Amino acid sequence: MKILLLGKNGQVGWELQRSLTPLGELIALDRQVVDGLCGDLSDLDALRSTILQVKPDVIVNAAAYTAVDKAESETELADRVNGQASKVMAEEAEMLGAWLIHYSTDYVFNGQGSTPWQETDAVAPVNHYGASKLAGEQAIIASGCKYLIFRTSWVYAARGNNFAKTMLRLAKNRETLSVIADQIGAPTGADLIADVTALAIQQAVKRDELVGIYHLASGGEVSWHGYASHVIKFARANGEALAVTAVNPIETTAYPTPARRPLNSRLNTQKLREKFCLHLPDWQSGVNRMLREVLNK
Ligand code: NDP
Repeated sequence: MKILLLGKNGQVGWELQRSLTPLGELIALDRQVVDGLCGDLSDLDALRSTILQVKPDVIVNAAAYTAVDKAESETELADRVNGQASKVMAEEAEMLGAWLIHYSTDYVFNGQGSTPWQETDAVAPVNHYGASKLAGEQAIIASGCKYLIFRTSWVYAARGNNFAKTMLRLAKNRETLSVIADQIGAPTGADLIADVTALAIQQAVKRDELVGIYHLASGGEVSWHGYASHVIKFARANGEALAVTAVNPIETTAYPTPARRPLNSRLNTQKLREKFCLHLPDWQSGVNRMLREVLNK
């Protein structure tokens, strides 16, 4: 099996480089041109010709315009990378008879209520990033190609910056922290997403009826405030010297951002778990593992 991975150096892309390796020949690209192959999603012609040159059996697209606040002003670039590039990949996958594996977000929903979102729920993006990701989903579905779209949320990885690392850094230097307590979701590790992707591809290539959208997130739920409190408690229990004495809960309205954020990022993952016979661990286990790595414990 020949796999073309796009966005190889992002949080999820990095982990996919590991998890996809045992499945077959892996050609992994970022935006740079290597051996005449170009993985820059803003260059639609180069992307199309790269797919035609590689002729993959599976395209895994981990690249995306993910700067949520900047997407409110860079709308054209966000639409091209998240929407039009997905359309190009889907059209080429359809022509080749290849599978397209793609990632999307709970930001396609309106973020209201407290019920975990199901794949069949009505979409109504809260911000431009969500709208551009929804355009990508719709283009893939309309193309008629074989696809798996994994909608996920609150992604973290040990590599690079993440919310937990930011909280640790602040907790070392400040006595009080204020963290949003009315947005609820489940922190989901890029390693889990990558492992689930590899396992799902193995099953999907043998069963076309698995085509579809799936919600992929860790089990359980927590607010950003609860997440920060967990990180601080874990670090302290493992001997980290922290200055922080209080983590204060605040409302989203107290922390205005250019892009609106959903209050309800809960995802119902029953379809993924049942169709692929997979278990998704509670968010704490992956976060604790990442913290051990970060804290070197
Ligand atoms: P990252 O931001 O870590 O990685 C995105 C990657 O895409 C980066 O390597 C980035 O490269 C690359 N990229 C951006 N623009 C282009 C471009 N024009 N051409 C080629 N590559 C480009 O994202 P994640 O790994 O966290 O996200 C993976 C997927 O999951 C995405 O589809 C995202 O929308 C989705 N998702 C992510 C969530 C999160 O919390 N992070 C939540 C929900 C969904 P560079 O570094 O050079 O810009």
